[in-house]
Amino acid sequence: MALTSIPGASSNNFSQEVQAALQGFLPGGLRVFTSIGSTNDEALAWASTGAPDFSLVIADEQTHGRGRMGRSWFTPPGAALAFSLILRPTPVERERIGLFAGLGALSLVDALQTFGVAAQIKWPNDVLLAGKKAAGILVETVWMGMEADSVVLGMGVNVTPQAVPPPEGLNYPATCVQAEAGKPLSRILLLRAILQAILRRRTMLTSPTFLHDWESALAFRNEIVRVWVSNEEVFEGKVLGLESDGSLRLELPERTVTIIRFGEVHLRPAL
Ligand code: ATP
Repeated sequence: MALTSIPGASSNNFSQEVQAALQGFLPGGLRVFTSIGSTNDEALAWASTGAPDFSLVIADEQTHGRGRMGRSWFTPPGAALAFSLILRPTPVERERIGLFAGLGALSLVDALQTFGVAAQIKWPNDVLLAGKKAAGILVETVWMGMEADSVVLGMGVNVTPQAVPPPEGLNYPATCVQAEAGKPLSRILLLRAILQAILRRRTMLTSPTFLHDWESALAFRNEIVRVWVSNEEVFEGKVLGLESDGSLRLELPERTVTIIRFGEVHLRPAL
């Protein structure tokens, strides 16, 4: 792997720590920034100019971190993990692009478990600790015609309390890893554990084991939730599990089963 040095990239402690932790470990290239608009934007641009598989863009701070549908993701300096991983899907993976959100979320659950922190996935793209949002996943695809050329798996993880946004304007209660772990935890070690988990989970992406483990990590399993689709249609039903493409299976009243696909979807527990 080549540790890429690019103009504007960071040369401070954060950069040195990241480079030292990932030396000889990352299969692709690496771009580290002290501050950046959005790691996903940088990764999308790099992906479209030929970044190798498993290349990483990481920043200490994002000034315009993005969530889904133009929402913003808060990433102050020194407090969070904010990175975007460029993956070049194999032909088999190209048929299952929807699984990459699960790959990110489940790998984070695995990594947190190695630090003794139990996490759950709020389908489709958030990771909860003690029922509160501690991380968000944003998957974006670079298309070449009809074919997915690369996938950018963006992840923002609140590590210390400073990463947790003020409650006004939050669409869901938030927390951070340190609060739930009850002790300080190294961002860099967590980063390494997440990347290790992604490498391992990716090898089983299309296997029944992957789907089973993703389902087992779902928040609100067998509970009644409300799901907003495109902010217009609302479904209320019991979370049954996942389809093989990662869509959510919901049991509606009168036992009809409906499948909710990725997209502009919001899930909440029914009160
Ligand atoms: P929903 O929970 O409704 O499904 P979402 O998953 O689509 O929302 P994202 O787009 O992933 O939400 O994240 C953006 C939203 O998350 C913001 O609108 C804000 O409310 C909240 N948010 C922003 N930064 C953070 C953060 N660091 N930690 C927790 N929540 C955040």
